[in-house]
Amino acid sequence: MTPPENQRQSIALLPPGLVNKIAAGEVVERPASVVKELLENSLDAGATMLRVDIVDGGRTLIRIADNGGGIPAAEIPLAFAQHATSKIRTSEDLFAIATMGFRGEALASIASVSHVTMLTRQAEQANGNSVEVRDSVLGPITPCACAVGTIIEVRDLFYSVPARRKFMRSDATEFSHCHEMLLRVALPNPHVGFVLTHNGRTVTDLPPTTDHRKRVAAALGDELYDLFLPVDFDERGVRITGFVGKPELARATSKLQYLFLNSRFIRDRSLLHAVKESYRGLIEPSAQPVAVVFMEMAPDSFDVNVHPQKTEVRFRESNGPYRNVLAAVREKLLGTDLTPHMRVRGESTPVATEPQTTNEVATPSTKDMLADFWRAAPVEQRPLEFASLPAAPPVPAWPETPMPQREASSPVVESPAVPPPAPDNHGIKHVAQFHNTYIVAETEEGILILDQHALHERIIYQEMFARATSGKLESQRLLLPEIISLTPRHQAVLEQVQPLLEKLGVEYTQLDQGAIAIQSFPTLMYRARPHEFIRELLDKLLEVGSRLTQEELLHEVLDMASCKAAIKAGMPLSEGEMRALLIRRDQTERGSNCPHGRPTTLRFTIADLEKQFKRR
Ligand code: ADP
Ligand code: MG
Repeated sequence: MTPPENQRQSIALLPPGLVNKIAAGEVVERPASVVKELLENSLDAGATMLRVDIVDGGRTLIRIADNGGGIPAAEIPLAFAQHATSKIRTSEDLFAIATMGFRGEALASIASVSHVTMLTRQAEQANGNSVEVRDSVLGPITPCACAVGTIIEVRDLFYSVPARRKFMRSDATEFSHCHEMLLRVALPNPHVGFVLTHNGRTVTDLPPTTDHRKRVAAALGDELYDLFLPVDFDERGVRITGFVGKPELARATSKLQYLFLNSRFIRDRSLLHAVKESYRGLIEPSAQPVAVVFMEMAPDSFDVNVHPQKTEVRFRESNGPYRNVLAAVREKLLGTDLTPHMRVRGESTPVATEPQTTNEVATPSTKDMLADFWRAAPVEQRPLEFASLPAAPPVPAWPETPMPQREASSPVVESPAVPPPAPDNHGIKHVAQFHNTYIVAETEEGILILDQHALHERIIYQEMFARATSGKLESQRLLLPEIISLTPRHQAVLEQVQPLLEKLGVEYTQLDQGAIAIQSFPTLMYRARPHEFIRELLDKLLEVGSRLTQEELLHEVLDMASCKAAIKAGMPLSEGEMRALLIRRDQTERGSNCPHGRPTTLRFTIADLEKQFKRR
């Protein structure tokens, strides 16, 4: 009852049941929150096998059975008391948390909004004990027969909080949240076995394993196993392990991105951004990589006590973790030969077929998840990957000395400016151009098909990036300055990027009435028309420029520059030029993809071909 205005009630302590209900509002949002709290308790109790049974999406029953240490009979009442915990004793402990739980309020909160039954037995006890909690009131503790460990049954969730009950979604939705919660606990704990059932059907069965990759694949989709790259990074007190998906796995949403800090699932937009940033140029900007990343740091270097559900953390040193994740994932991607094997859609195409889940019965959530996962990335469109050497060798001369420009219609002649193919021909046997657009190269292992524009674009991009960040690009004075007239808005943008343009070797003088005269232009961009480049760049920046960071601005400018400077589709190339491109590809970081993330190269090995032609 709300008291009438100006008429206050006297101050009174709230009854414990109500206090617990208020706390439950923070901790217990929906069935999945119960699953999370109970699973964490079982892990804290040292369990190695966990079984979760859900009935009707959790509204009728949530039961969790573990083989952990159990609770001594004398402590059972305390387990259900508010702020009673066996995990921390002092406020120092609070900042060096090694267990999942510590607030000592989960059981009390859950019991205030449901009917709880607990059976528990310690190893040294001959029998177990059971207790029922109704309306936050503990019943008698009675001996019972049960296995070592603890079983907690939560029935009729939110029976006492109709508002919460109303907010529960369909059984399938609530169950899928429970399932997701179980995955978040199972991913970082491969040594623990998990079974999940819904209405009596086994939905997930994750046996204990020492192979972490196996656990991650078993949880998220067995097909991922071969497409995961293991990450292992250790620097200045931060260890980062995990599995990141090859770029071709990229999909439309970030659903398959998981971050863990000391085995605890966390949400952190900045760290997810670091993961995404590592894939820059390997996947298209709108695509999301698949990544499961485990960080380990000293417990006193971050704070998890920010939020009752403990999914948000505050780092003591805020930029460090970002840089570490970026370095860990980027290093892995750059150090791996990722050139994909081309697959033709058909029966022998593992990633194009209907995905197999680990379980006999796929839950709606798993099925949906995988369905839109694959839908998001049809095999033909999936961005493909690159081969690059971990440490790029010194930049060879080409294309520092520009190839002499020639008319597209002129006969193809060996350009003297292109170094002749190295005597060992770099493993490339035959090479030929098709439709003046694609290069097909015969290698020891099979054949490569390359998009000449995309590849050259990437090569120029990397070269300009390397030089622009280490000094200034070489430029050439134009014989005739190119005059461009600009609107005041274009002028303003130009002023902003002027320092960057100067680094790239673009120099101009200011004329009257908003016009400029381009005096010098980068040697590397001899194929581009200066006024066209400047105009299109300024248009683009007017569109997106104000939202860009310095680094993004650099990428944007280099994108445009390399696109303008690269060999176009439709341009005939000599054999020497093609060979030079192929050699440069191997020496270029992220050479498998153009700066926009589209592939430069497709690969067919002899084995791929034999398989496709059903020779074996
Ligand atoms: P917290 O986990 O924050 O300590 P809880 O309310 O979740 O608080 O649990 C209270 C206490 O009950 C725990 O500290 C632990 O000692 C005991 N407990 C709860 N669940 C289990 C379990 N499955 N096995 C053994 N002990 C448990
Ligand atoms: Mg707990």
